[in-house]
Amino acid sequence: MNFSDLGLSPEILTAVNDSGYTTPTPIQEQAIPHVLMGRDVLGCAQTGTGKTAGFTLPMIDILSSGRARARMPRSLIIAPTRELAAQVSENFEKYGKHGKLSMALLIGGSSFVEQEKKLDRGVDVLIATPGRLLDLFERGKILLADVKILVIDEADRMLDMGFIPDVERIVSLLPKIRQTLFFSATMAPEIRRLADAFLMNPKEISV
Ligand code: AMP
Repeated sequence: MNFSDLGLSPEILTAVNDSGYTTPTPIQEQAIPHVLMGRDVLGCAQTGTGKTAGFTLPMIDILSSGRARARMPRSLIIAPTRELAAQVSENFEKYGKHGKLSMALLIGGSSFVEQEKKLDRGVDVLIATPGRLLDLFERGKILLADVKILVIDEADRMLDMGFIPDVERIVSLLPKIRQTLFFSATMAPEIRRLADAFLMNPKEISV
């Protein structure tokens, strides 16, 4: 299978080509067509499988076909650590460089002022760790009412780090009608329970 068989736009295929990828990985092959269709996805996949491109490539396509610039974020990606959130944002910048989407990386350990300035200018995509996202929400800096795509990355690590209550709080602030993509390296009972609560009739993928 080729990237061009997955339903991605020519702009995204250019970014894929620029990245030097020739063949989609198994998770990309299985996830991308379903994400493009608007379906929820429950992916059991480790880091290193190409899962980040599996959700960022179709997400950029979906968001780019709407308004050129949104006032409120339409997509939220939550990751357990600063490093992982930063990696996702690097992927997003790489794959989105031919488009006009704006993104804010909201992580602890960097200044509130810069992140708030970015939010005030209006962004399409938020990539965040749970604690910083909730801090900014409490400060009234983030509107979540227009979020249409939620990604929860590395849910098993969220559990290990004690972030599940924060994640549940964040999800309770989002519109009920949305697309949710949920990734975890393991499907422990607590992770399964969360997936059941957050996803609607997901396509299940295990690689
Ligand atoms: P991830 O599992 O998302 O952390 O990705 C692992 C690594 O694989 C990253 O360095 C990506 O740049 C790379 N990668 C993702 N998709 C592909 C692909 N289809 N072909 C080759 N490398 C890829």
